[in-house]
Amino acid sequence: METNPAKEAERILREFGVKGNPVPVEDIAAKLGAKLSYEPFEGQDEISGMLFRDGDHIVIGINSSHAKTRQRFSIAHEIGHLVMHKGAIFVDKAVRLNRDAKSSLAIDPREIDANRFAAELLMPEKLVSAEAKKRLVKKSKLSELLLIDELAAAFQVSSQAMEFRLTNLGIISPR
Ligand SMILES: [Zn+2]
Repeated sequence: METNPAKEAERILREFGVKGNPVPVEDIAAKLGAKLSYEPFEGQDEISGMLFRDGDHIVIGINSSHAKTRQRFSIAHEIGHLVMHKGAIFVDKAVRLNRDAKSSLAIDPREIDANRFAAELLMPEKLVSAEAKKRLVKKSKLSELLLIDELAAAFQVSSQAMEFRLTNLGIISPR
């Protein structure tokens, strides 16, 4: 079965009538029947999130010691597993979105899909483009770094995640 993370994310956004940013990722998880469980995962700080599924019993575990933006990304990532993948348990170790981490990240195609889904869910192309356009028109001399930070705040994602997304969408050029 071929899954398309972009299409799946679009479907979810449409299904729950999400029209603005920041995307209410906790609400979406809850509406999908998942119980969110925030835990510090003491002594295992490398875990960013997990999904446990047993029939109707669905729990998304989130590392509460991580930054809020990162928690949102983790929730979106686990929603991706929930809607795209079969399997009772997913445990996700912390990965950074920088280029160095790419190779280790690229091992399991389901992880690539879940990250792609999370980016599409939290930073829908239409909304990101609209917000970027608004700012580029308003302040023509706005630097790309400032744009990244402003959009990261507007979508409640990390600056790294937003930079990655804007580069992928061709709104900024790779550094
Ligand atoms: Zn995962």
